[in-house]
Amino acid sequence: MKKNVLTGLRPTGNLHLGHYFGACGNYLKLQDDYNFFLEIADVQALTDNFNNPEKVRKNTKEITMDLLAIGVDPNKVNFFLQSQIPEIAELTVYYSNLVTVSRLQRNPTVKTEMAQKKELFGNNGESITYGFLGYPVSQAADITAFSGELIPVGEDQLPLLEQCREIVRKFNSIYGETLIEPEHLLSDTKRVKGLDGNEKMGKSLGNAIFLVDSEDTIKEKVMKAVTDPNKIKKDDKANPDVCMVYYYHKLLNNNVEKVCSECKKGERGCVACKMELVNAINKLLKPIQEKRKYYEEHPEEVDRILKEGTLKAQEEAKETVKKVKKAMMIDYDI
Ligand code: ATP
Ligand code: MG
Repeated sequence: MKKNVLTGLRPTGNLHLGHYFGACGNYLKLQDDYNFFLEIADVQALTDNFNNPEKVRKNTKEITMDLLAIGVDPNKVNFFLQSQIPEIAELTVYYSNLVTVSRLQRNPTVKTEMAQKKELFGNNGESITYGFLGYPVSQAADITAFSGELIPVGEDQLPLLEQCREIVRKFNSIYGETLIEPEHLLSDTKRVKGLDGNEKMGKSLGNAIFLVDSEDTIKEKVMKAVTDPNKIKKDDKANPDVCMVYYYHKLLNNNVEKVCSECKKGERGCVACKMELVNAINKLLKPIQEKRKYYEEHPEEVDRILKEGTLKAQEEAKETVKKVKKAMMIDYDI
């Protein structure tokens, strides 16, 4: 029998190069051999976008189209909407007894994201909501509802997976062996940096190149990318290791040796170097954008894919909740 894979994306914006190189490559590798559940995590997106439901609603379809455009096959992968699986909310309540508040406050991913959202949660996280602090518990419910054994993610997700494993172990030790402990799967590029040099390119961080970006937008963004501040003139020698443009040349495997040696020798101007990168990105994105056009013109097909996947996901989650309630002795026949 095929093992289950579960992964999720938050409908907070379109897919970017961080997703493409950091996580999605593994979706394509796994889709043939696993029973694959792909969650559009709208409930999780609402934890820090509760005041902007239109954004989350719009992006559920946007991100689904992006995933289809990069080659995720809807005949092999169940796309589903988190909000349409009430069993996930139910499991979240049960698991919330198994996690301390201080453990959640110490979770490195929660800490980093809280610091990035000062406007919403205050300078020291004093206005953090119960929902945001608890989203790792909800994520443990996402994974276990689908008996996810293998979880393809980017590096920022590792502390959340560790939190999930702790919940699973605690559940099993109290209520008996019921849940499966998931394992993560990282890509070779486990964390893609942002255009601004930030450690992570993120949809919500304003430092991303999106797969839907037009040639002009890409040019505009790349021209602003952080380069070696000591290189002022075109023929100054520079250090490519502190340059985001070189970083993306490496990511795209685009004439890396030439770019590096010319940059070091002062034989390469930044503008020309940036234009080469713009062209390489456009070449990568063109076929993806063409495939996406088909789904933009056939929105009913996107709806059908989400509906069929969600129905399958509902069946699977119902089975898990049955097992969980039995283990917890709350399985009444009334
Ligand atoms: P948000 O800023 O709203 O959290 P995001 O860009 O972090 O959005 P998610 O939907 O949270 O995107 O993440 C989906 C998947 O993509 C996760 O597995 C995550 O680890 C991975 N991912 C996101 N950004 C990167 C990145 N820069 N490098 C590697 N993987 C990434
Ligand atoms: Mg994220």
